[in-house]
Amino acid sequence: MVRPKAAHYDRVQEYPWEIRDALHEAGLFGVWIPKEYGGHGGGVLDLCLVVEELSRACGGVGVLFAVNALGSFPILLGGTDEQRAKYLPDIAHGKRLIAFGLSERNAGSDAGGVATNASDEGDHWLINGDKKWTTNGGAADIYSIFAVTDPTSRSRRISGIIVEKGDEGFEIGRSEDKMGIRCVPVVECHFRDCRVPKDRILGARAGMGFKHAMMTLDNARPGVAAQAVGLAQGALDLATVYTTQRVQFGKSISSFQMVQAMLADMAAQVEAARQLVYAAARACDAGAKNVTKLAACAKLFATDVAMKVTTDAVQLFGGYGYMRDYPIEKYMRDAKITQIYEGTNQVQRMVVARNLVKEAGRLDHLKAFIPLPDHPNTIADQERSEAATAGA
Ligand SMILES: Cc1cc2nc3c(=O)[nH]c(=O)nc-3n(C[C@H](O)[C@H](O)[C@H](O)COP(=O)(O)OP(=O)(O)OC[C@H]3O[C@@H](n4cnc5c(N)ncnc54)[C@H](O)[C@@H]3O)c2cc1C
Repeated sequence: MVRPKAAHYDRVQEYPWEIRDALHEAGLFGVWIPKEYGGHGGGVLDLCLVVEELSRACGGVGVLFAVNALGSFPILLGGTDEQRAKYLPDIAHGKRLIAFGLSERNAGSDAGGVATNASDEGDHWLINGDKKWTTNGGAADIYSIFAVTDPTSRSRRISGIIVEKGDEGFEIGRSEDKMGIRCVPVVECHFRDCRVPKDRILGARAGMGFKHAMMTLDNARPGVAAQAVGLAQGALDLATVYTTQRVQFGKSISSFQMVQAMLADMAAQVEAARQLVYAAARACDAGAKNVTKLAACAKLFATDVAMKVTTDAVQLFGGYGYMRDYPIEKYMRDAKITQIYEGTNQVQRMVVARNLVKEAGRLDHLKAFIPLPDHPNTIADQERSEAATAGA
């Protein structure tokens, strides 16, 4: 269903409702949602397996599916029981689609700098501002958005708020013309005195939005990484088939050692990325402590692999790989976004390094073996001093 339609939806840049219907009929929208809210109770690993498989055929369809997890995680991880009971069953049953609106024109990597604000008007919130790059916007019925509810607070400035299609003052704006993942819409969302009931604020109290957004990204980044693994595997599959069929110098090009080395490196990188993604997904499901670092490692490693492997796959197709008549260039275009969204890979490296430094205290026992330059205390120094003492 997905592969035969991939080129068409990429060309026309339209939401593939027939594919959404097929995913719905297969019951896949409930994969990551707990059974008590109508899902299959599978968690992040199961989500990753589905995203990987879909992305192997079309990266756009992979994100079309995964973005519903991204949008629903703020409710699942930060919402009240009532909010979970109200929204998650419809998402699990594929009746309603959901989007995640954090980024703004001037708040991308610096997500804490969002300017969209929601003021407390007694029995309702009044939202004003604009969101940029909302994936699934327009197709979605529910939006988990993040707005400033207390501009005076440093730590509790932002809250997650649920906005629904049809809410007064909420409008979908321009839809982007994209390099890849073209079948899924990425839009601007506008809020002009948008009025939502008081109980739409995520969680028991306002001000938890930044925490909810970060928890969401920890759980969603393995999904982006799984999209990358699927894209890389899909490109490797096509390159393997092509190189065994394409004949030059009277032989299939797969018989040339340089081509074989490329295929082997691609396969090793895809498998390494896959194992890291599964490890991160399992850590999320187990509620492990180091999940932020591991999820960021998986996202940056797998998406860099996807970019490298899809580019090498185009190379193995030669000139034909550069042509839109062939399915391989789409993999390279679809792969690029995985290095950018849900935090660029520079941001992932910042997250990993920050966590490494934070954890450095656990390695204090190693200090004795690493003398600082102005405190000569090398093992050789110690041995010399012991020898001197023994001699004395
Ligand atoms: C197709 C698409 C879909 C998207 N979907 C969504 C969505 O559904 N919901 C949502 O909320 N957002 C979404 N986004 C937004 C996406 O998460 C942001 O684009 C991304 O976080 C980067 O922000 P920016 O584009 O403003 O780039 P900038 O933050 O301006 O970054 C520009 C460059 O500077 C680098 N940079 C920035 N700060 C630092 C730093 N401190 N150190 C080193 N390098 C740095 C970046 O890595 C990048 O290379 C989407 C974006 C795109 C393009």
